[in-house]
Amino acid sequence: MNNIRPHTLLLAEPRGFCAGVVRAIEVINYLLENEEPPIYSFHEIVHNKFIVDSFKKRGIIFVDSIDEVPEHSRIVFSAHGISPTVMQEAEEKSLKIIDATCPLVTKVHLETKKAAKDGFDILLVGHRGHDEVEGTLGEAPSKTTVIDSVDEVNEITINSEKVFVVTQTTLSVNDTNEIIDSISEKFPKAEIRNDICYATTNRQSAVQELAKKADIILVVGSPNSSNSVRLMEHAKSSGAVAYRIEGIDEIKEVWYKNVGTVGLTAGASVPDELLEPIINDLIARGVTKIDTISVAQETIEFKPPNNLPIPKRILTQ
Ligand code: SF4
Repeated sequence: MNNIRPHTLLLAEPRGFCAGVVRAIEVINYLLENEEPPIYSFHEIVHNKFIVDSFKKRGIIFVDSIDEVPEHSRIVFSAHGISPTVMQEAEEKSLKIIDATCPLVTKVHLETKKAAKDGFDILLVGHRGHDEVEGTLGEAPSKTTVIDSVDEVNEITINSEKVFVVTQTTLSVNDTNEIIDSISEKFPKAEIRNDICYATTNRQSAVQELAKKADIILVVGSPNSSNSVRLMEHAKSSGAVAYRIEGIDEIKEVWYKNVGTVGLTAGASVPDELLEPIINDLIARGVTKIDTISVAQETIEFKPPNNLPIPKRILTQ
């Protein structure tokens, strides 16, 4: 009983890159190959250390403030989006802007802006301080309240009946449903948009299925990647022992003790090449059976921003 070793690997499908991340990475690759440096990225282009480090090595300069960018420079806005104030600052410096904001994040900005114009008070369900939430909040800061938990719903003091609810795209589906239920109870006439994106939803459904069969689940993703952290939490709340890791170096030998079946998944900003060494290591440890647990096939693609003529190709980081 104490000599069980990993014999089966279950891969979640879908896992890893979503369409918004593919688009943002393609933009940076295109600029590196076709434009003269310097090229700036406002915030991490996607929340993955491996990708950001590789782009830094290739010359991309990451900044957290437009003040750091010289006039007339080329700048890319990350997949998480930016607030109108950042856009204005960039325009005032005549920056050459390429906006790689995921179209699904842009949709939330447009909903928020319209709701504010139509006289609604806006509740933005999301994690305070996350790049995406800061960007959306900036569309109507005086009309928007960020709500991070059910407890915070109890503290809302809005008197109006015109309440509009939007969400961050990468939240826990279950936690968000609880928060939205609580908002609906307090504001029965609230107009609600649940903006959790297809990629987040699918990855959480897949990890839930993994949790039924795997003894442990490894979730590859950076600690600042909201959807990766939510995947790990989702695996745990589905009853699995789960660990979030940047890559193979963070795996501890003891995790595999008395484990027969290992589940593996990855957040939406994680390249396949971070999973390959983990899979090869498990094969070397004796895994002979590799199965895929599939809940959805994703075929969504987004057009490049600024009409950039990016050819269809296999991604390189
Ligand atoms: Fe877009 Fe969803 Fe991917 Fe974020 S996780 S970049 S919202 S598709």
